[in-house]
Amino acid sequence: MSPTTRRTFLKHAATATATLAGLGLRSEAAERKDPKAAPARALPWYRRTLRWGQTNITEIDPTRYDLAWWRKHWKRTHTQGVIINAGGIVAYYPSQVPLHRPAQFLKGCDLFGELCRAAHADGLVVFARMDSNRAHEEFYRAHPDWFAVDAAGQPRKAGDLFITCVNSPYYDEHIPVILREIIERYHPEGFTDNSWSGLGRGTVCFCGNCRRKFRERTGKDIPREKNWNDPGYREWIRWNYDRRLGIWDLNNRTTKAAGGPDCIWAGMNSGSISGQCQSFRDYKEICRRADIIMLDHQSRSDVSGFQHNGEAGKLIHGLVGWDKLIPESMAMYQAGRPTFRLASKPEPEARMWMLDGIAGGLQPWWHHVSAYHEDRRMYRTAESVYRWHQDHEEFLVNRTPVATIGAVWSQQNTDFFGRDDADLLVELPWRGLTQALIRARIPYLPVHADHVDRDASQFAVLVLPNLAAMSDQQLASVRRFVERGGGLVATGETSLLDEWGDPRPDFALADLFGAHVADPRRGGDEAKRKKTATDTAHTYLRINPERRTKVDGPQVGTEPAALGERHAVLRGFDETDLLPFGGVLEPLRVDPAAQVLLTFVPPFPIYPPETAWMREPKTDIPGLVLNSTAGGGRVAFLPADLDRRFGRDNLPDHGNLLTNLIRWAAGEDIPLAVEGPGLIDCHLYHQPGRLILHLVNLTSAGTWRQPVHELIPIGPLRVRVKLPADVRGKRGRLLVADESVSTTTRGGWSRVEIQSVLDHEVAVIG
Ligand SMILES: [Zn+2]
Repeated sequence: MSPTTRRTFLKHAATATATLAGLGLRSEAAERKDPKAAPARALPWYRRTLRWGQTNITEIDPTRYDLAWWRKHWKRTHTQGVIINAGGIVAYYPSQVPLHRPAQFLKGCDLFGELCRAAHADGLVVFARMDSNRAHEEFYRAHPDWFAVDAAGQPRKAGDLFITCVNSPYYDEHIPVILREIIERYHPEGFTDNSWSGLGRGTVCFCGNCRRKFRERTGKDIPREKNWNDPGYREWIRWNYDRRLGIWDLNNRTTKAAGGPDCIWAGMNSGSISGQCQSFRDYKEICRRADIIMLDHQSRSDVSGFQHNGEAGKLIHGLVGWDKLIPESMAMYQAGRPTFRLASKPEPEARMWMLDGIAGGLQPWWHHVSAYHEDRRMYRTAESVYRWHQDHEEFLVNRTPVATIGAVWSQQNTDFFGRDDADLLVELPWRGLTQALIRARIPYLPVHADHVDRDASQFAVLVLPNLAAMSDQQLASVRRFVERGGGLVATGETSLLDEWGDPRPDFALADLFGAHVADPRRGGDEAKRKKTATDTAHTYLRINPERRTKVDGPQVGTEPAALGERHAVLRGFDETDLLPFGGVLEPLRVDPAAQVLLTFVPPFPIYPPETAWMREPKTDIPGLVLNSTAGGGRVAFLPADLDRRFGRDNLPDHGNLLTNLIRWAAGEDIPLAVEGPGLIDCHLYHQPGRLILHLVNLTSAGTWRQPVHELIPIGPLRVRVKLPADVRGKRGRLLVADESVSTTTRGGWSRVEIQSVLDHEVAVIG
């Protein structure tokens, strides 16, 4: 996609929407609140409930639930929707459904009903929360065939509870009866379910229902052993995914039939793709069905940081659409490592997780476990964020992300390439690459490999971080993108496997890369792949000596130091001919027209120092290959796994090289530049007539070690944004500092200076 075509696309999009809301600092969302606005704008509850809350009830809470206090808390936090425990493992109302056991301290009262009526009276919507999947022993005794069993036929248990089987009447009959009972009595707006997808991938059920259903579909027995290369095991994986989609559909049919078309069942989903894989939740298919995604992704990990939350928002919006909502359960208690259900999460930690999620398009959902706490600090955390959110909600929804970099992913790659090592093979390369983008303040969007054709028009570059398992259709989409002049950055073993993880004899995109595998057996060598990805060797990458610039250091031998401009992707490396690497590379066959800019220096000893000299200073094994295609698209193929290395080792050289490659492949077509020190997560959006830039300050002593104890301000920041056709760039406003800022507009770009950012800032340029 050429910049001209993209501009035309943006212009068209702008013209189409500009008529809806006019230009300037007023949006569709603002008009929606306008009583004079057309009634056709009325949105269903799941499209307009922007702030959520959940007091996750424990079994003792019926004795001590201070409803009056919690109603005040709803009000204080401007909460519009609540998630209230209703049934499943235990019922929080007097249920007539056989074996639907009341909570231990319910004692005949109707806590769910009381809370539901109070919420409705206060104008809040209600998601009735289910927790299916487990039951007490008396239920197991009554219906042993509804429960999961292991290979030896023994029931699968979690503590004292027995785990129900997703293929049994527990899901087909028992849960629908409960859903209907709750709807008829209480009319909640919809349902969530904490553990609707049942047993995960690591735990096989061998019950009679599972064996019968799997045999009906495949003619086979349930595989006794995990073997990703066995077609039977792969069928078992797919069958499991399909069953969860079946449960999703059945529950939605049930709730809509009993409660009307807007009475939806929304389950619960994770912000982690490998988490979705482990739970057999097909994110693309779920999002195709969903009206709202209820996201259970409560806190960060040290390796992925707060920025993971913003990315989760962008990734899921890419699937479900930017017009829908994705509330996220955000723990107000100390969740993560370690977990303390009744202690407050340190306020800066909880706050930053919320803010980065909001920056990525998530809606806040405070979450407390238990209705009573002696650590009352947790009640203060949400309030200021929610108040700010309410004041500025029109800028936080109904917006289109602006980014020219598309980072391509697929759940199938996580399953069938990642297999049991998805973190190593799939997530680490992804994390390194996206971290390099965040560090360089380059806006990007995750794009599903099946949506490349649909989404390509907005992108200058597609980035494929070790996207090894790709279908023929996905390959064709990428090829079309490059043929039309799009840039491509691919790393590692991208396109070396088919969608089931079976090896191809060569990279399927070898002609675009300008490089081919030398050994056609390479794609099938799983053990070697895993070892190479795990180990750190004492290896280097040599910058092609023909392209040396200047030498100010000892000279050795007679080798001429040819002077000349180095390639743009080597910017910043003028004073070195060598980069630290750590990985191991195999020979490739390189097409004559392709350029090899980095070559592999094989391992040599580190210790003792006397031995630390290169035994083989030069090879022709490529570490980086640049190619250009007939359509003019720039292609960078990086066999060296610097994305994974950067994700793990955090060496700036690796991040800088990745950024250089992306900038080069994009032809510098990047709509944002932010100058000034600090680690900042930058999210850029467009609404009719204005741009919205959400900056989240990740700079802290706790950036890579939770929890953050204190926030550290950064600034001043000098920001330049490229203006779409309908944004004049004449006015600027900062929504956190709550002040106007002056803008300078020239050549289609607008400049703004932001003096200081503590946690986050939102600049609106209209
Ligand atoms: Zn089963």
